[in-house]
Amino acid sequence: MVLVDIWSANSRLDRAESLRKSDEWLRDLWQHPEARIVQVCGDGDLFSNESGTELRLARPAFDFEPNLHLLVGLVDDVPYFMASVMSDGPNVSLRQLAPLLDDTQRDLATTAVALHNWHTVAPFCGACGGYSEVREGGHTRVCTKCGRERYPRVDPAIIVAVRDESDRLLLAHNSTWAANRLSLLAGFVSAGESLEHAVEREVTEEVGLGVSEIAYVASQPWPFPRSVMLGFTALAADTEILVDGVEISHADWFSRVDLQAAVGAGTVVLPGESSIARRIITNWLAGKL
Ligand SMILES: [Zn+2]
Repeated sequence: MVLVDIWSANSRLDRAESLRKSDEWLRDLWQHPEARIVQVCGDGDLFSNESGTELRLARPAFDFEPNLHLLVGLVDDVPYFMASVMSDGPNVSLRQLAPLLDDTQRDLATTAVALHNWHTVAPFCGACGGYSEVREGGHTRVCTKCGRERYPRVDPAIIVAVRDESDRLLLAHNSTWAANRLSLLAGFVSAGESLEHAVEREVTEEVGLGVSEIAYVASQPWPFPRSVMLGFTALAADTEILVDGVEISHADWFSRVDLQAAVGAGTVVLPGESSIARRIITNWLAGKL
């Protein structure tokens, strides 16, 4: 299966998992003449140029502080750090910026936002309430009271392209979305649930359909605030849709011709270009699923 524009397994971002355990190594890295800082503010917005089309990277201008200067990783041996800072000039959301970045810059920005979002809520130990200190360049926190280690949390969510026997695609409207916006069905994985169970449950709950032939397609980091989206395809047992009326207000089947016509006429608005939903839909339109 050749997929169009889906995240590849290759990343140029070296997360330096063993080396980052050393504060001395991190301190030396901070002095690297080409070191840069990805600055993140507020709810995870990135410092950008005036038009919000490029990352605005800073050079280290202060002494290294392990609690504040976190390692995103290295690209061709050039280190990139993340710092959570107060807003200073133009900034932009990762959702808006991601489609404009190349793969490596997108990896840097996504990791920086994920670290920012985790550290925003992680300072105090979930077991004893003690303060936790940053370790390993920001990829671990250790409680100063009970010694427990904590790692950045990632909440799995599934997203599924449900098709019928005629290879039509099911698209649904979430009650909270702007009018005309349609996308694939998605939902969080519940405690104790497999990904396949989550796909089957979400489809049944949201549109009343049973599914088979559940198959993994691709994944996407989605740090809003801390998810990874796991993309699947599935075959519907029948075509009669019964929406839940709460999360999903309406849903419908589309042939490729119908969907392209509806998008052209503006009666259907597809999800943003940076989303895995859009990329899976694009692959289906191209006959790649
Ligand atoms: Zn603790």
